[in-house]
Amino acid sequence: MESSWEPADAAFREELSAYLDEELGGWERSETGLGSAVYTDFSRRFVRRLADRGWLTPHWPEEYGGGGQGAWQHFVLGEEMWKRGEPRGPQYMNVNWVGPALIKYGTQEQKRTLLPPIARGEVFWCQGFSEPEAGTDLAALRTRAVRDGDDYILNGQKIWTSYANAADHCFLLARTGTLADGRDGISVFLLPLRTPGVEVRRIEGLVGEHSFNELFLTDVRVPAGCLLGEENKGWRIVRRTLAYERVGAPRYARAALVLDRLAEWSRAHGRLRDTGVQEQFGHARTLCEAARVLVYRVIDERAKEREPSAYAYQARAAMVQAERAVGDLALDVMGSEALVEGALGDAQFRNSLGAGIAAGSYEVQLNLISRLILNLPKE
Ligand SMILES: Cc1cc2nc3c(=O)[nH]c(=O)nc-3n(C[C@H](O)[C@H](O)[C@H](O)COP(=O)(O)OP(=O)(O)OC[C@H]3O[C@@H](n4cnc5c(N)ncnc54)[C@H](O)[C@@H]3O)c2cc1C
Repeated sequence: MESSWEPADAAFREELSAYLDEELGGWERSETGLGSAVYTDFSRRFVRRLADRGWLTPHWPEEYGGGGQGAWQHFVLGEEMWKRGEPRGPQYMNVNWVGPALIKYGTQEQKRTLLPPIARGEVFWCQGFSEPEAGTDLAALRTRAVRDGDDYILNGQKIWTSYANAADHCFLLARTGTLADGRDGISVFLLPLRTPGVEVRRIEGLVGEHSFNELFLTDVRVPAGCLLGEENKGWRIVRRTLAYERVGAPRYARAALVLDRLAEWSRAHGRLRDTGVQEQFGHARTLCEAARVLVYRVIDERAKEREPSAYAYQARAAMVQAERAVGDLALDVMGSEALVEGALGDAQFRNSLGAGIAAGSYEVQLNLISRLILNLPKE
């Protein structure tokens, strides 16, 4: 694997950084509330300006509003955004996995109608996967979709639906087969959230001001054109989507920045005289770097247009380790001061909690690594 940046990617990073420093000024999201009203309003405005410069979906094909650039450019963007607290807000999901799923599995009509608004930065999407009895065991989901003429009728409940309060569409999983069919009876629906029968209820959460929601679906009638891919064949879309999602947010970039700031704080407060603390810094930096390299291996596969592999599990697990190490270090050096709202360790600590659960928990990533990379038996 080539380990240095192509001159064009390096130049892009420089140009982008200068733009972001100017455009964002001193702005930095002080909280983890990607779904909060203040934050989503800011993201909506910012993302449109980014789209005007061709920097929202540079990696998409030009025919869908993209810039025809490669996966690396998209990743440079991701690193620079995530480092600054992700000013794209929930739209990081649109460009990372919603759009690519539509490009791969969508009909011409779905691509024509749904992709350009994403590329222009006009819409939010959310992800309706988890249910009260189907999280890790996602294939146990019970939300039903029943065909009725040219429509489907949806009934069920989703939970932990980030940003549903602000979203226009939901990338929703529903059961079109029987429960006994397991993953072979699941389909993906592209649900406009302002359809009658959809109710969004807020959940107060530890991870942010307002990120989580429940989604209740009662006799929600959608045209059959909302089905993505084939009926009952949604699982392969889910697998690919999750592979993209797992590495979509370059969490190590933010963790490394927080680590630098923690080092400054520790120097100013005389905490670096403790060699144990210095060792912890070295350990956390190593984990951030390891995560970065493992994520790059996944992006390298993507850039070569290979199917997503099990490396995504390693990359995700490494990112969680890096985030946790920096969060723990903040607590160790700053004590309870680290957890005061807006303090250095606060968002980091909470982000690391969320990262170890979302997109498949840390334990699940480890199980998959054992099975698919080490070839260990399932039980
Ligand atoms: C920040 C955040 C954002 C999220 N956003 C969304 C969203 O937008 N849309 C959405 O659909 N969902 C979302 N989720 C939900 C998330 O996908 C689920 O929380 C996750 O899949 C785990 O499911 P669960 O909460 O039901 O926990 P469970 O599946 O009940 O797991 C509980 C614990 O048991 C462990 N465990 C379970 N099974 C195994 C096993 N076989 N081996 C080892 N350990 C196991 C898990 O690791 C976990 O620690 C989000 C979660 C978080 C934290």
